[in-house]
Amino acid sequence: ALTAGIVGLPNVGKSTLFNAITQAGAESANYPFCTIDPNVGIVEVPDERLQKLTELVKPKKTVPTAFEFTDIAGIVKGASKGEGLGNKFLSHIREVDAICQVVRCFADDNITHVSGKVDPIADIETINLELILADLETVEKRIGRVGKMAKQKDKEAVFEYEILEKLKEAFEAEKPARAVSFTEEQARVVKGLHLLTIKPTLYVANVGEDEVADASENEYLKLVQDYAEKEGAGVIVVCAKIESEIAELEGEEKEMFLEELGIKESGLDQLIRATYELLGLATYFTAGEQEVRAWTFRNGMKAPECAGIIHTDFERGFIRAETVAYEDLLEAKTMGAAREAGKVRLEGKEYVVQDGDVIHFRFNV
Ligand code: GDP
Repeated sequence: ALTAGIVGLPNVGKSTLFNAITQAGAESANYPFCTIDPNVGIVEVPDERLQKLTELVKPKKTVPTAFEFTDIAGIVKGASKGEGLGNKFLSHIREVDAICQVVRCFADDNITHVSGKVDPIADIETINLELILADLETVEKRIGRVGKMAKQKDKEAVFEYEILEKLKEAFEAEKPARAVSFTEEQARVVKGLHLLTIKPTLYVANVGEDEVADASENEYLKLVQDYAEKEGAGVIVVCAKIESEIAELEGEEKEMFLEELGIKESGLDQLIRATYELLGLATYFTAGEQEVRAWTFRNGMKAPECAGIIHTDFERGFIRAETVAYEDLLEAKTMGAAREAGKVRLEGKEYVVQDGDVIHFRFNV
């Protein structure tokens, strides 16, 4: 399963946010594919469509889909040189599929900042630089190996060598790999390098308690937003402290507290949704009388592979995917009516499943 790593300098609010994640957390029993590890928090993906489908179908049970956040503590200056826990930190980052970088944007004199003052851009650059240096090392090693073959005019080696040089240049200019543009063919080679700075990244601005409803006056936040925009990265605003309070509540209590705070959706829910997208994940639904359920698939997956997410037998014996778009089903109200309106499609093996598809798989056992 794909997972997103939470990183950040010490004292920026990572643990507080991660606690909120595990508090709000899903029953791991429902999600056998998920890891059981104290550093992994399983979150349910908030999805209004699932509620609407439940109202339509009135099943016995409704099951949201979920994915994982991994808490990656221990970044320090010099991590790329293997100082302290640095190496371990980098190897943990290597294992995640996307990065959520928590940045301190709250002013609180009682809480020490590692470098003496709140400076979100310096914080971001400290972390990003460590990752860039680690990648530079990876690329330089590879250049050493590929360079010799490239000199002998080995075609593949020449192709890779050019890519490596381009990356090296970017890293030396302190730019992450994700800021470099590649052709599709080059991108495949880059993927094989398992670089840290190629991972999709978003910034989590941790703002003060009094800024939950409106953080527009927060100067730190503005800096982070400008920085992220230049990188093409997203920014999610949270107040980790408040999030940990929200996470203890459910249902009506949670709604009331959100209303009191003057917000529609918690920062954590926004973070979950944004990270899901960042990971390239999407949702399809199954809707039967027994159970209405959301399932996670990777964008671009075809119908048989999506069927396999439910059960390997579904993929092996795949015949067809009886499919209706969520909006069409909502409008028609029943599967029968949707069928009459010609909205239900019988899709085959090559069908690329779309976010929001409601699917009934037909398969041979
Ligand atoms: P970590 O080292 O990044 O994991 O940071 P922690 O989550 O342990 O937080 C460091 C300190 O900052 C703790 O005392 C938290 O209570 C405090 N803190 C975290 N988030 C906030 C926040 O949004 N506002 C304020 N005022 N304090 C916070």
